[in-house]
Amino acid sequence: MNYRVLYRKYRPTDFDSIVGQDYTIKTLRNSIVNNSISHAYIFSGPRGTGKTSTAKIFAKAINCLNPIDGSPCGKCSFCVNFNENPDIIEMDAASNNGVDEIREIIDNVKIAPTNGKYKIYIIDEVHMLTTSAFNALLLTLEEPPSHVVFILATTNIESVPITILSRCQRFDFQKIKEDKLVENLKGVAEKENIKVTEEALLEIAYLAEGGMRDALSILDQLSKNKETITLELIEKEIKTISTKSINDLIDSIENNDISNFLNMVEDFKTRAVDYKSLIKKIIDNISSRAKKIKNSGLVTRLSFQDYKNLILELTEAFTKININVNPYTIIEMIMLDYFETQTKKVNKVTKLVSEEKESSKEIVDKKIESKEENDWVKIRINNCFVNAQKKYLNEGKEMIDNLLKDNKIKGKAKALLIDANLVVASDEYLIFSCLNEHQANNANELCKKIDDILGKKTAFISEEEWNREKEEYIKNIKNGKKYELIKEKEEEKVPVLTEVFDVNKVEIV
Ligand SMILES: [Zn+2]
Repeated sequence: MNYRVLYRKYRPTDFDSIVGQDYTIKTLRNSIVNNSISHAYIFSGPRGTGKTSTAKIFAKAINCLNPIDGSPCGKCSFCVNFNENPDIIEMDAASNNGVDEIREIIDNVKIAPTNGKYKIYIIDEVHMLTTSAFNALLLTLEEPPSHVVFILATTNIESVPITILSRCQRFDFQKIKEDKLVENLKGVAEKENIKVTEEALLEIAYLAEGGMRDALSILDQLSKNKETITLELIEKEIKTISTKSINDLIDSIENNDISNFLNMVEDFKTRAVDYKSLIKKIIDNISSRAKKIKNSGLVTRLSFQDYKNLILELTEAFTKININVNPYTIIEMIMLDYFETQTKKVNKVTKLVSEEKESSKEIVDKKIESKEENDWVKIRINNCFVNAQKKYLNEGKEMIDNLLKDNKIKGKAKALLIDANLVVASDEYLIFSCLNEHQANNANELCKKIDDILGKKTAFISEEEWNREKEEYIKNIKNGKKYELIKEKEEEKVPVLTEVFDVNKVEIV
């Protein structure tokens, strides 16, 4: 079965079946209705968006004896014999890019049409013409005989000389929107008795990148085996990765699930999926997440900036990619960096994967460690609530503003304090909320230093966690609970990770 069959079979034959080019079609129909035909048109736009089909339908309408609302009637002698009409001359510049063919056109241009009102020349992929062919064409476009219409089509308008463009009425064909592609695919699938899931239709529309021809070709290719077309079948047949798999991949970063991430990349490698489409999909997915974060203020483990950096890194790597580098390795290495940005945590988890024996002990250690970290923060929050007062909050805010203004806090501590929000304060404690847990952890690791700078005991929690703590506090106060000081554990329990950061950058001048 030829995979182009569906595309041929469902090629639009009237204006109504051209999908997604409403403005262009409306204007062309109006020009037929008003009998205002130009001598040259140029249709530009991505492949498979209906340029050639539109050119043929328009040509038919121009010569039609009884056009209906600007559309060809389909019944008159011109419409019926359109394909054999000697007045319609089609040329594909991609295969005939020579000056001789154009010369022949020009010679014949002067001869009046045999049957119809107009001789119509449709030149596809016109940007492929050689310079001398363009010059020859230009001569005709400068003084076209009144019975001639040129319809030029191109996927690469930038390569068409401005001298040609300036003599044409230009129409830009748009990529067809995914919902329109899905709607059309669904109609064809029903007529052809092809079983296809809704998810798979969306995936085909995505892969077609706005082109109806590609969408139908993919549907055709997938329907060969007569099985129901599913996401799995698409992944297997097209060697691509479904949008859902990409979402799972990025979710694994968001959930800090390194082993899932590594397994997925391994699977891509084994299946030798097309890395260009992989990288494109990763970037699409990440940028829509980044936009969502910016737009809705959604709190996620990775910030807008993280996602933005990741996109820039991936793009940079792939513009420089050379044939000797395994592309999956690059994707893997760049993205691994976004699993808990602190090296020690990445190392720890990678070690878990490679050294099984050690792993159980490590997991237990890690759990204890994080529980203690958590305990320590909880104790400080509790102790702050014991004597929390509005005046301490105001004083604290003012002090931090002044320190920042006078440039007395520097480096990472400064960045952290600018981003953090002082939410509750007592005579002894200051509690801050951060955009996310990741930032809060970063700040808590510097907390000893920040304590010294601010002269109080500090702790940082995510905004989400703070909202929970606040609710809890209000509830407790209403119920008459009295907060009591809990003794903090000995000094060394408070993390002092100064060696990870450059201590010199955090100082009071
Ligand atoms: Zn007709």
